[in-house]
Amino acid sequence: MTVATDDGIRDDDAAAGDGQDDRRAVLLDSAKEPEFLDWLKRVRRKIHEYPELAFQEHETGRLIISELKSIGIDYSWPVAKTRIVASVGSAVEPWFGLRADMDALPIQEMVEWEHKSKNKRKMHACGHDVHRVQLIMSNPYSALHVAPELPTGTIGSRPGPMLAGSARFQVKIQGKSGDAAQPHTTTDPVLAASFSILALQQLVSRETNPLESRVIETQATVHRCTATVDFLEEKMRAYPATVNDESMYEHVKKSANLCLENLRY
Ligand SMILES: [Zn+2]
Repeated sequence: MTVATDDGIRDDDAAAGDGQDDRRAVLLDSAKEPEFLDWLKRVRRKIHEYPELAFQEHETGRLIISELKSIGIDYSWPVAKTRIVASVGSAVEPWFGLRADMDALPIQEMVEWEHKSKNKRKMHACGHDVHRVQLIMSNPYSALHVAPELPTGTIGSRPGPMLAGSARFQVKIQGKSGDAAQPHTTTDPVLAASFSILALQQLVSRETNPLESRVIETQATVHRCTATVDFLEEKMRAYPATVNDESMYEHVKKSANLCLENLRY
C-alpha cells in the first residue's frame, strides 16, 4: 500500500518490518467489507431509532452489550448508572482508553425517513449514535466528535484548545419592589438581569476569539441590586475544555494519514 505522510509518499510494503503494517492492512481491508459496513449501519440506525437521554440509556446499553457479546468482547455493566466498560487485548501495558457518548438530546426529529426516532421528543441530533458505532469498530482515535460541516473523508483537529468546556451557574438577583408609578423608589431586578444577560453575551460573542477559551467573571452588584452566583459545582460537575496535546495531535495526524486514503486533515 502506498500512503501519503507528512514526509511525502512512502511505500508501506517496503517499510513493513514488525508486521504492524500487515495487521493494519488486514484491519483496513476488513473494515471495507460490505458485510462489516452493513453491520455498522444496522447498529447505528437501531440506536438512532431509539434515542435515550443521559443516564437513561438502558435499552441502548442492552443493544451495545448484545453486539459486544456477538463479537466476544468482555464488559462490565452498569458502571456509573448506565455506562459500559469493555476491554480488548492482553491487559499488558500500554493501555489505551476510548470513550463514546451514549446520550441523545431532548429534541423532536422532524425529518421524515425510514429510521426516524421512534421516541417522542428525543433524538440523536448531536451524532452520538455515530460515536457509539465508531467505538465498536474503534481504531486509533483518542477522542472525536462528528462534524457535519466538514466534507466526508476529512478529519479536523488542531493542537491546543479544540472543543469547548461546559459549565453552568445560577445567579440570584435581588431588587426592591414598589409602585410602578414611582420607579425611582424601586430597584428593578428584571432590568438588572436583562443587562447582565446582554453584557455576558457580548463578552463571549464580541470580546473573545471563538477558538480561544475564556472565563467569565460575574459582577456581584448590578444596578443597585444584590446578586449571588452559584457555580453548581456540587450538583453539576463542569466539563473542562478539550486541549489537544501537541505530540498526541501529531501522532493522530500520522495515524490518520496512514489509515485513511484520500484523507484531508
Ligand atoms: Zn455531542
